[in-house]
Amino acid sequence: MLTIHPIPAFKDNYIWVLHNRMHAVVVDPGLALPVLEYLELKKLRLHAILITHHHGDHTGGNAELLKVFDVPVYGPSNEFIPFVTHPVNEGIQINLQEISLRLTVLDTPGHTQGHITYFGSNPKNMIFCGDTLFSCGCGRVFEGSIEQMYHSIQKLVQLPDDTNIYCTHEYTLDNIRFAKMVDPDNKKLTEYEIYAKQLRLQDISTLPTTLQLEKTINPFLRCNQPDIIKSVQNHALSTLADPLSIFSELRAWKNSF
Ligand SMILES: [Zn+2]
Repeated sequence: MLTIHPIPAFKDNYIWVLHNRMHAVVVDPGLALPVLEYLELKKLRLHAILITHHHGDHTGGNAELLKVFDVPVYGPSNEFIPFVTHPVNEGIQINLQEISLRLTVLDTPGHTQGHITYFGSNPKNMIFCGDTLFSCGCGRVFEGSIEQMYHSIQKLVQLPDDTNIYCTHEYTLDNIRFAKMVDPDNKKLTEYEIYAKQLRLQDISTLPTTLQLEKTINPFLRCNQPDIIKSVQNHALSTLADPLSIFSELRAWKNSF
């Protein structure tokens, strides 16, 4: 049985721990201490660290974890990240024997130049997508181009609908506030807001989300929908209607929100 558990860190990060009650793998450990405490509490042995991109809130715990556990560190080959021992990129498979999980690497640049996503299909479809896709939103474009981000998101959209999305930040309620402005008549979005608020009131993570759900509520995945196109055109005083232009205007709108 694979358990995937979010460890809260900083203000709104999640460090995902994958384990089978004995062996564990950790994704984007921005901090070491809460990870070490969780491993200790659950009597788990760490076997690998997976990194999606170079930002400090995803990598800052590497040094301290490696002092305790001598394990491989997987990370994007297009970025320099201290302590990465296994640089990986598109198509490379990672066999995490101890937790019986095989992951495939997808290049998803945009937030950073070398950002990668890890995709697994057993025991269920899942992605660890760092700061590329969030529930009801997407990452900021810091280093890559808006075209890269658009194509990265499109790559993730091609995955099976039942793919569970493990992103790295609890941004859901903020993202919903923006999405409601863009897509005010979307009933699914209103329902999701009620559900997400209930979870947050109990301090429960809104993640993982699923691709199927995101396709109904996330404006960044709905740039071909008439309601979104109209709303973005009105805001940007533009007549452009192609999905990339809509995505680009939507991202700019969100940046100033
Ligand atoms: Zn980041």
